[in-house]
Amino acid sequence: MNFREQRENFRNKKISAKEAVQEALCKVENDKLNIFISNLRDSAEKRAEEIDNNFEKYKDRPLSGVPIAHKDIFCTENIQTTCGSKMLSNFIPPYSSTVTRNCDEAGSVMIAKTNMDEFAMGSSNETSFFGPVGNPWNDSLVPGGSSGGSAACVAANITSISTGTDTGGSIRQPAALCGITGMKPTYGLVSRWGMIAFCSSMDQAGPFARDAFGCAALLDAMASYDGKDSTCSKRDVVNFENALAEDFGALNIGIIKNIEDLGINNDVLEAYEHSKSVLQQLGHTLKEIDFSELSSGICSYYVIAPAECSSNLSRFDGVKYGYRSDQNNISELYMKTRSEGFGDEVKKRILIGTHVLSAGFYDAYYLKAQQVRRMMKNKFEDIFKDVDLIFMPTTLDQAFEKNRQDSDPNRMYKEDLLTIPANLAGLPAISFPNGFKNNLPVGGQFVGNYFKEDLLLNTANKIQEVTDWHKMTP
Ligand code: GLN
Repeated sequence: MNFREQRENFRNKKISAKEAVQEALCKVENDKLNIFISNLRDSAEKRAEEIDNNFEKYKDRPLSGVPIAHKDIFCTENIQTTCGSKMLSNFIPPYSSTVTRNCDEAGSVMIAKTNMDEFAMGSSNETSFFGPVGNPWNDSLVPGGSSGGSAACVAANITSISTGTDTGGSIRQPAALCGITGMKPTYGLVSRWGMIAFCSSMDQAGPFARDAFGCAALLDAMASYDGKDSTCSKRDVVNFENALAEDFGALNIGIIKNIEDLGINNDVLEAYEHSKSVLQQLGHTLKEIDFSELSSGICSYYVIAPAECSSNLSRFDGVKYGYRSDQNNISELYMKTRSEGFGDEVKKRILIGTHVLSAGFYDAYYLKAQQVRRMMKNKFEDIFKDVDLIFMPTTLDQAFEKNRQDSDPNRMYKEDLLTIPANLAGLPAISFPNGFKNNLPVGGQFVGNYFKEDLLLNTANKIQEVTDWHKMTP
């Protein structure tokens, strides 16, 4: 069932919040794909009863009566929050993130926390301390990452909505690999408070749903000004669900010249070509744009993200919270705690980050990477003088085999080639299913100008009105 039907059923009293929650929890308990880190049956049933008992109060809220799963990166009061790491495997936060609070306020019921790459570092969900997640279309394949659990949860029809975070593509890439819709909002639209930090200048939370409609409603719930996050936008937030009905007219949509030279798989390109013709049928004009800088984003990201993570993760020292190694001597304690508590990918990034920030290498790496980031932002600004949106595939490939990382570690980083540019510039982007090849979904994405979420959701929704890719289920 999609989000809209589920919410209608609650509003029309065809199903109570408690029944919806119990049905979803049954599926959580039968999950064979390792999608979840925790199952919150007790608190979820209680909360659902409260919503049912106060039907009039909740019925018109954006997520009324709908079960939701949250990525285990969001702190949840009195509920274990692991960030996919041994380091936080025993961490019970004393407060909740703004995102999960907002979703509660909006009438949803949190039923589970989803599996993820450790500290959101990864593109395949294989770096999780709690083991890899299987792709609902084929469990020998990865669901994408780092929000792979949240994407698989919606694709497997366990909940109709879930939350994720996208620092370099972690919402859009798993959405594409699992055949659902996922959105990374403009940096600053959604509060980062209570969301465990990886790369603070790019981390941004966003919605997953089967379609643009579900993403719009969930984003309505998630987005709010929050004084506890100094980078949170103070602009008035528009109502995204209402924006779906607006008429934005015929658009100029940018298509990147020679995109096929970037190493995109032929099946993905075929789906992309087909979607271009759908956009034309809807009355939009395709305009070729020069964007040869696109592929340099990845080099910049894999310097800046490790640099910020090396700083953010210094707080995990075995003293303040989380895992602590058994040692009496303080420096031994720090070292052992961090050696035992972090996985290999996280350690690799901390090492790279510390190196690129060190006195002798700062100018050569970190400063250069920031210059490339600025160039990327300027380039987007130029492009958006001519076009309303940019359309491109979300990923180079479809879902791939587990353990691929073993043969070529850099290949995994390359996965983010098409998603990272939007993160570097802080722009909003939405990925939606736009084809089906080899019995697996393919994703396409729109990137828009700052705070144009309404336009992105509206345009994706128009496509979904005339195509069926988002209705396919494993
Ligand atoms: N795959 C990218 C990385 O490993 C992006 C992760 C993310 O968006 N959280 O860093």
